[in-house]
Amino acid sequence: MRLGALEAGGTKMVCAIGNENGEIFERTSIPTETPEITVPKLIEYFADKEIEALGIGCFGPIDLNRNSDTYGYITTTPKLIWANYDIVGAFREALKIPVGFDTDVNGSALGEATWGITKGLENSMYITIGTGVGAGIISNGKLLHGMLHPEGGHLLLAKHPSDSYEGRCPYHKTCLEGLASGPAIEARWGKKGVELADKKEVWELEAYYIGQALVDYIMILSPQRIVLGGGVMHQEHMMPMVREEVKRQLNGYLQTKELEDMENYIVLPSLNDNQGIMGALKLAMDECQLENKG
Ligand code: ADP
Ligand code: ZN
Repeated sequence: MRLGALEAGGTKMVCAIGNENGEIFERTSIPTETPEITVPKLIEYFADKEIEALGIGCFGPIDLNRNSDTYGYITTTPKLIWANYDIVGAFREALKIPVGFDTDVNGSALGEATWGITKGLENSMYITIGTGVGAGIISNGKLLHGMLHPEGGHLLLAKHPSDSYEGRCPYHKTCLEGLASGPAIEARWGKKGVELADKKEVWELEAYYIGQALVDYIMILSPQRIVLGGGVMHQEHMMPMVREEVKRQLNGYLQTKELEDMENYIVLPSLNDNQGIMGALKLAMDECQLENKG
């Protein structure tokens, strides 16, 4: 089965052709400009590839309610030229194939849960700490959607008493994204994260916020494993610090075999940065099945 996958991001669109085993045959990347400029290029890429379905993992917020008139739209995104854009409709109309659709981070959660480190677990999470922060949640074996889709990057946090940075989220200032995203690190310390590798206080504070968020997710969602991805997690010393913080902030309240084995509980992604695009392949597959049944 030949399938198309699209990881739609704010700076680039990654397109790939693969199959139902998560194998990727080819890929390309196209810069994200306006829908008028970018979407025709994407359609041109997929048009002659003989794919049976397309899956899209997309920046958001997006409308995932199949009963809504604006299902498949990018809705109120801060990337204003893409707001209220019917991205699923554009591909369906041009390619005339089933188009699966979900958030970018749900795509990554699905990729890891189908072929990666959370495979076989009924409850897991994928969190990306990068330009933005997002969380994809698998609950009882399915991606969690609810009213819209979870926006776990905007979890409201308590500030560290020594942190005088005001936070950069335009909506909440001191949410997880506002305090711990790559751009928040840069704004607080005046340098990019990659240039701050040897500054211990930077990563202690970062681990404090990520740890706090993970404790909240653990309390509410009870995941069996948490995957932490995104550019900021490329700081290799972060992972042990985050695990320590989670332990410290849980303060012995929960005792499970998973939490006792922290190194296998909070983990890095396992699919060589292909988790998002592989998740999009799975979205394509699932949509195909759904439409064949219907
Ligand atoms: P995006 O979120 O845009 O898809 P990334 O996940 O790569 O992309 O995140 C980019 C952010 O991560 C930037 O803010 C960048 O400064 C930060 N970043 C990238 N690499 C590192 C690193 N090695 N150490 C710390 N921060 C990093
Ligand atoms: Zn926010």
